[in-house]
Amino acid sequence: PADFIDRLGRRLRGLGEPPPVQAVAGVDLDIVHGEVLAVVGESGCGKTTLGRMLTGIIPPTAGRVLYRGRDVAQMRGAERRAYELGVQMIFQDPFSSLNPRMRVRDIIGEAPVVHGLVSRAQCDDYVCGLLRKVGLDPDYRERYPHQFSGGQRQRIGVARALALRPDIIVCDEAVAALDVSIQAQVLNLFMDLRNDFDLTYVFISHNLGVVSHISDRVAIMYLGRIVELAATEDVFTAATHPYTQALLKELPVLSAAKRQFDPISGELPSPADPPAGCAFHPRCPHAMPRCRSERPVLQEVAPGHWSACHLNEVAGVGGPGTKVAAF
Ligand code: SF4
Repeated sequence: PADFIDRLGRRLRGLGEPPPVQAVAGVDLDIVHGEVLAVVGESGCGKTTLGRMLTGIIPPTAGRVLYRGRDVAQMRGAERRAYELGVQMIFQDPFSSLNPRMRVRDIIGEAPVVHGLVSRAQCDDYVCGLLRKVGLDPDYRERYPHQFSGGQRQRIGVARALALRPDIIVCDEAVAALDVSIQAQVLNLFMDLRNDFDLTYVFISHNLGVVSHISDRVAIMYLGRIVELAATEDVFTAATHPYTQALLKELPVLSAAKRQFDPISGELPSPADPPAGCAFHPRCPHAMPRCRSERPVLQEVAPGHWSACHLNEVAGVGGPGTKVAAF
């Protein structure tokens, strides 16, 4: 609705269509079978758009999404269907992502019957099994979404995704709307299901603290680009990008004496008008003159650790022979 009102307002004022926004650019990312890859960044950084491109909800306007080595845009028929079933998404809001007029039995069981994964006769047993797997009583299948708590609804959303037997699940802020204690339960559920169903997760979150418990690798996004990518432990102990370091400083620590809260100054610039050079330079405490005009490329600064910052060259990495992400 906000977008519609904005467009209507522009038309009435004779301003025409707004300029196109590049929500994601230059992202070059492999997702490894069985891993939990976290994608972290502030609201508006492009992480949700990235997740939607992975699931095929939004086709990329440039570049390619590969699934099992094949370009998704070229897929047709059974191959395309296998991709659409194989990559599922769990949404942020468990209150609006379930059809309020459908019983849980149909929310979970309808799509696998339509796609021929189970027969209608097997469907009831199939739904009961999935409800048990996500920690819900099978008797709940006759109920409607409004009869459940937020955590239970998210479990139903997980069962609905699992019903299509995916190998990759994209979780878009999947625990952000839940109470902290429920968040921990749902995160534990994700980890149990990873082992039981041989799943790979792309876990989109604005909260580094949440992903620290479950991710194997973390990609930090800023204004549509990945600025740092590394194993989770390396992100927490050896982050090289000033934006990642600022995100880490915002994490609360348990001891009040050690608490350090140093919010990132300024606001995320508009993706419609990104700053020249390094997009983070208006907020970066280490910005140098070249940062205002020259965009840093993502370089491998240590094995498996990638960072896009001119400081890496000052620190002695990024010279000739350094691996650079290919866009
Ligand atoms: Fe800061 Fe410059 Fe590095 Fe950007 S390239 S993060 S502005 S030091």
